[in-house]
Amino acid sequence: MQMVYPDYYPSFSCIADRCKHSCCIGWEIDIDPESLARFQAIEGPMGQRLKESISLEETPHFILGEGERCPFLNEKGLCDLILHGGEEILCQICTDHPRYRSFLPGRTEIGVGLCCEAAGQLILSQKEPVKLCVSGTAEEPDAEAELLVALRQEALDIAQDRTRSLTERESALLERFQGWIPDLSPVQWAEVYLDLERLEETWTEVLENLRNQGEYIDREGFARYMKGRETEYEQLLVYFLYRHFLTAYEDGDVGSKVSFSVLSTRMLFLLGALCWTQTGVFTLADQVELARQYSAEIEYSQDNLDALFTMLM
Ligand code: SF4
Repeated sequence: MQMVYPDYYPSFSCIADRCKHSCCIGWEIDIDPESLARFQAIEGPMGQRLKESISLEETPHFILGEGERCPFLNEKGLCDLILHGGEEILCQICTDHPRYRSFLPGRTEIGVGLCCEAAGQLILSQKEPVKLCVSGTAEEPDAEAELLVALRQEALDIAQDRTRSLTERESALLERFQGWIPDLSPVQWAEVYLDLERLEETWTEVLENLRNQGEYIDREGFARYMKGRETEYEQLLVYFLYRHFLTAYEDGDVGSKVSFSVLSTRMLFLLGALCWTQTGVFTLADQVELARQYSAEIEYSQDNLDALFTMLM
């Protein structure tokens, strides 16, 4: 089996109690059958607490407490389950998150999602072009998968071509992969995203702000302000391409995946420009937070991803 990961991946670590938007708050946490059996075998006070904290209705899951907190997230922001039994005790979803995996025949790709602020900080602060690390060999090579991987590498090479501006790279990507993005104003894009499923109130506020103030954004001024920090947008583009390009294996449509990657990067540029136009400041922390919201709201909602892919097809 071939394993692939971006070169920054081994440096990821959860910042636990220092995390402002813990993934243990506001997300439904499903429990896989193996972990459920393990939890049910635990005796004593922790066993009792587990019994009271798990709903067996439909997919077994933890019953979230006040403020949609995981019942095992303590007041110090630490996980009582880990404190009780170490990381091995965790169910699959908690062990994995924010790691994601993509599967192709003979090949597994791993990465960390922007919905986690520690991952966002790591990804967006990379200054050098990100490289993909490969270990192992594909035992039964699949011609279609190999072609897609080669095409994605071509897309990544375009995205990382620092002899061109980011706008030129985006146009080159759309041209090469027959991508298409509707020519909408910032206000119209706000409407498109407001029509999608939304989770956090703060994301709705961001989009309503774009709808109300979108026509006043100073994009050229923001581009000048971001001089020297263009790599943040390169890393976003590379992240979206790495994560979503190969899903074309399922539907055969590379163009919509490239278009989605470019659109997502442009939306984050637009929202950054809006923030800067209104406040005069846009820090790396602001960028990480915007990317976190975008990822949580869009990438982690299959309905939203499907809606955008369909629109861009
Ligand atoms: S969001 Fe990331 S940093 Fe925060 S608790 Fe989850 S894994 Fe850790």
